[in-house]
Amino acid sequence: MYGAVIHAPGDVRYEERPEPTIIEPTDAVIRVVAACVCGSDLWRYRGISPVPNPTPIGHEYCGVVESVGEAVTTVKPGDFVVGGFNPCDNTCAACRKGATANCLNAAHYEGCQAEKLRVPLADGTLVATPEMPTDDLIPSILALSDVMCTGWHAAVSAGVGPGKSVAVVGDGAVGLCAVLAAVQLGAQKVIAMSRHESRQKAATAFGATHIVAERGDEGIAAIQALTDGIGADCVLECVGTEDARLQASGAVRVGGSIGLVGVPHGDLPVEQFFWKNIGIKGGPANCRAYLPHLLELVLNRTINPGIVFDLELPLSEIAEAYAAMDERRAIKSLVRPNAYAKAVSQFG
Ligand SMILES: [Zn+2]
Repeated sequence: MYGAVIHAPGDVRYEERPEPTIIEPTDAVIRVVAACVCGSDLWRYRGISPVPNPTPIGHEYCGVVESVGEAVTTVKPGDFVVGGFNPCDNTCAACRKGATANCLNAAHYEGCQAEKLRVPLADGTLVATPEMPTDDLIPSILALSDVMCTGWHAAVSAGVGPGKSVAVVGDGAVGLCAVLAAVQLGAQKVIAMSRHESRQKAATAFGATHIVAERGDEGIAAIQALTDGIGADCVLECVGTEDARLQASGAVRVGGSIGLVGVPHGDLPVEQFFWKNIGIKGGPANCRAYLPHLLELVLNRTINPGIVFDLELPLSEIAEAYAAMDERRAIKSLVRPNAYAKAVSQFG
């Protein structure tokens, strides 16, 4: 089979890889219907994180189960499934508290930008749709494997709820999904920070009530002007840089909360958080805990996070999928293996 392999910064190739097989009895092998490039994949693509060896890449996917290990009971061959980027058993003490990102038996996968994928802890990780979804729902289901769960996690971590004012730092796919999450969770005012017209439009489509194009002190002033001069109740930081955290700590009101989901690079401005009595919570998303609810919202067409995908390519053009995101020509790239048509005709 074929899949994406990162060899070095700026060098992602479509190449032949071994077919995945069932190794553990808790595994499933799925035929990938759609996969995508994550903003966090770009850390290696841009040379910010190291690439020591050629490595299969990608952690976001949805697809059709092809085979399962003998211990798997909740999904079966032919099921259409989506799983979060962080496999979990969904039964351990941490998972039972909803902390599925920190599963005590956590597994890992990489190499989802491929025709097939081995999913560990299939019972805990995968959620099946009741029936084969129509093609137009695929992007929104795919978005649940990371960006929508991560945006949701930012909002939940910051305590977004009815009547709250929310500012979102970051206009990538996660930031846009965080806007959608804040709206769904009942926020009264949702301010998206973005300088790019296409991203502003997506934020507005997701229900943002205000757009702030300024950054730095001007951006903070603009948010204060929209929030009785004090800043937003909740700020969702969806970038991960030190600048983004400084922007968040400036935009949040005294006694407010920041939801942190950008993978952190650089320092945390602890002093600012301390003197403003800011609450800060966040980390990798508890995808499995959120998936059933979010999948229901997608299937009944309440939310459509799939609009974050503004570029769709065959998997064989994975190099362009990366380049387009790296150069910010695309918000997020979706790739489909050629096996997709076959999967649908076999199981659909
Ligand atoms: Zn667990």
